[in-house]
Amino acid sequence: MTTTRFAPSPTGYIHIGNLRTALMNYLIARKSGGTFILRIDDTDPVRSEEKYVDAIKQDLEWLGLHWDRVERQSQRLDRYADAADRLRKMDRFYEAFETPVELDLKRKKQLNMGKPPVYDRAALALSDADKDKLRAERGQGVWRFLLDHQRIEWNDGILGDISIDATSVSDPVLIRGDGQVLYTIASVVDDTEMGVTNVVRGSDHVTNTATQIQIIEALGGKVPAFAHHSLLTGPQGEALSKRLGTLALRDLREAGVQPMALLSMMARLGSSDPIELRADMAELIDGFDIGRFGSAPTKFDVEDVYPLTARYLQGVEFAVVKDEISALGVPDALAEPFWTLMRQNITTMKDLPDWWALCRDGAEPIIADEDKEFIAQAMEMLPDAPFDAATWGNWTAAVKEATGRKGRGLFMPLRLALTGQKHGPDMAGFMPLMQVVGGRS
Ligand code: GLU
Repeated sequence: MTTTRFAPSPTGYIHIGNLRTALMNYLIARKSGGTFILRIDDTDPVRSEEKYVDAIKQDLEWLGLHWDRVERQSQRLDRYADAADRLRKMDRFYEAFETPVELDLKRKKQLNMGKPPVYDRAALALSDADKDKLRAERGQGVWRFLLDHQRIEWNDGILGDISIDATSVSDPVLIRGDGQVLYTIASVVDDTEMGVTNVVRGSDHVTNTATQIQIIEALGGKVPAFAHHSLLTGPQGEALSKRLGTLALRDLREAGVQPMALLSMMARLGSSDPIELRADMAELIDGFDIGRFGSAPTKFDVEDVYPLTARYLQGVEFAVVKDEISALGVPDALAEPFWTLMRQNITTMKDLPDWWALCRDGAEPIIADEDKEFIAQAMEMLPDAPFDAATWGNWTAAVKEATGRKGRGLFMPLRLALTGQKHGPDMAGFMPLMQVVGGRS
């Protein structure tokens, strides 16, 4: 049975990069009828905030990425302490007392000598008396996991065969001097105890994975299947990390992006399959294959999600948006024709209020100097509202007859005068929605 998890730290709003991780884990679980866990990685009591936990849940719900259960690391601290004890007993855990400045100095020295900046394990040589002395001077040390200096290998679901030389990696700190349990051990204990079978996360975690594999093995757990997706970049290939703050999921929701448009895009971006707009989650699950993703950085342009949103809306039935249309104040009799026409003509639902205001109040007309007379004459010929489906055809035929204008020279000035816009919906369908004509003198 497949079990996956999405494990955000509640230290900020989740963004498009997190969505990619969440979605892949969600789709893998759903595809196999497995379990999708939302795991809140909140072992950092200072940076974790409850408002972000709530926001993460809201964002996932908005997207329809429903989880089967929630786990919180802050409620499992005894499990991590227990694992730490076991590592201590098997001599895979040691206390080290270097200050950050000392560590930095060591790293610089190593780099100067052309060596990789790997922790030199000086703490292993400390006697009990040394440690007592250091503890008295500096307080509790950090706890490092003693890596086994072998190659660590796994077959990555995206990157393929990976082999990392453990000597090139520092023994990871699992517990801080102040006792705070760090992500690496908490994650390993959870993945093992929760029966996580597949872990998809960003390629910035590859080195973590190497050390986690050894910790899992030391603790007697079963190593899950790992897949590391590439990181997103901006449209020009620039690092997205600084801009991720502006790509929070709640901002995209606020901007009118439709969940299915966003999910359709993110389920395929960076894979060898084309992006296709999916109608629902079932289609998305069906068309997903983690093996199709590549390791190269994935370019993401938020602008691409708007055409997909527009296309999605074109297929949305009236019943789905009925309440939203009513809320705009569109009378019941006009609500369905309003939607059926406008859905062809909007990028997001945010465009609707302006169109309804235009129908209700009329537009500020745009009339070019050379069209003044023509428009005046045409307006004389326009019957009073309410208009019907035949109004536009009859009216423009009569205006054509009277003025001799035709084609664009006939239609565009009339559209501009009636709607104040160059582009817009089909006028024959639009006229019955117009309550007044603003341009009428
Ligand atoms: N809390 C970690 C992060 O957000 C989870 C990484 C993982 O999936 O293991 O980076």
